[in-house]
Amino acid sequence: MTRGYAAMAPGSSMEPFIFSRREVGPHDVLIQIRYCGICHSDLHQVRDEWDESVFPLVPGHEIVGTVTQVGSEVNAFHVGDSAGVGCFVDSCRTCHSCRSGLEQYCEVHCVYTYNSTEKDGRTRTYGGYSDRIVVNEQYVLRMPDQLSPERAAPLLCAGITTYSPLRHWGVGHGHKLGVVGLGGLGHMAIKFGATFGAEVTVFSHSEHKRADAIRLGAAHFAGTSNPKTFKELERRFDFIIDTVSAEHGYGRYLELLKTDGTMILVGAPDRPAPLGAFPLIMRRRRLVGSLIGGIRETQEMLDFCAKHDVASDVEVIPIQHVDQAYERMLKGDVRYRFVIDLNSLQ
Ligand SMILES: [Zn+2]
Ligand SMILES: [Zn+2]
Repeated sequence: MTRGYAAMAPGSSMEPFIFSRREVGPHDVLIQIRYCGICHSDLHQVRDEWDESVFPLVPGHEIVGTVTQVGSEVNAFHVGDSAGVGCFVDSCRTCHSCRSGLEQYCEVHCVYTYNSTEKDGRTRTYGGYSDRIVVNEQYVLRMPDQLSPERAAPLLCAGITTYSPLRHWGVGHGHKLGVVGLGGLGHMAIKFGATFGAEVTVFSHSEHKRADAIRLGAAHFAGTSNPKTFKELERRFDFIIDTVSAEHGYGRYLELLKTDGTMILVGAPDRPAPLGAFPLIMRRRRLVGSLIGGIRETQEMLDFCAKHDVASDVEVIPIQHVDQAYERMLKGDVRYRFVIDLNSLQ
């Protein structure tokens, strides 16, 4: 018997929900969940804003806990280990993407941690707003002891979502990096960008976040409600990472890139944005996107965070406060990630 919190219908409040997980198979790990981060995509799916939600829906894909049982064939994990689970719990394991360690781009069936189906195409997956989860060992992350579990939980989505593209595009020393938006993703993009050696400028319309941006590692803060900002910073940046999931245009940020500059989208607005060709054509700029990261790279990120003392800024809440947390998240009233303490389920 697994206890959790679920949305029972689109937009309904979160309420206690009891369900069952599969038996621990030979290659499975049973994890007692200690903390689970609250991601914007939890809210999108609870409210069925992507038109693909199935209810009851137990969200949560930033999961950290303790291994309490392992299958007979499991070697990589032992009872008592600290373990993490991110946005997916299985994939086909045979396609080109899976074989390249890019399971998130599986061409056959990436099994998301919640609101998805197992590879049988029928069994629903339920996420980390619950007390336990059973996951195949190949899709479980080792959580380094140096990381505090509540501050590490958001690394499993917000962290890897920003780490992966900054690594892929080689952002580092000598680069000027713009970070658009200072929320859950944005605050991790600042930390990684600065730790990789880039000079980070934060773009935000919230002037009151200026001091936080600098504290998190940014060298500069650019207020986007001031129209002069976009004139002054034209052709300044090598890279811009855009973390905003509210609708907005990309053109004025593209104009801030140098020739051959790259703008990376990781925020996911519900509707398409208009895009003119000229900002791209005139300076051979690139507009690219990126989705979370594979298991190998997520482990690499966790180890990097342990070594360089990188973690999320979090506000820990009991699970009974999830609805209020969603409301506050919509207003941007969180610095910078809510994390549920699953002890509160008891
Ligand atoms: Zn997420
Ligand atoms: Zn695959």
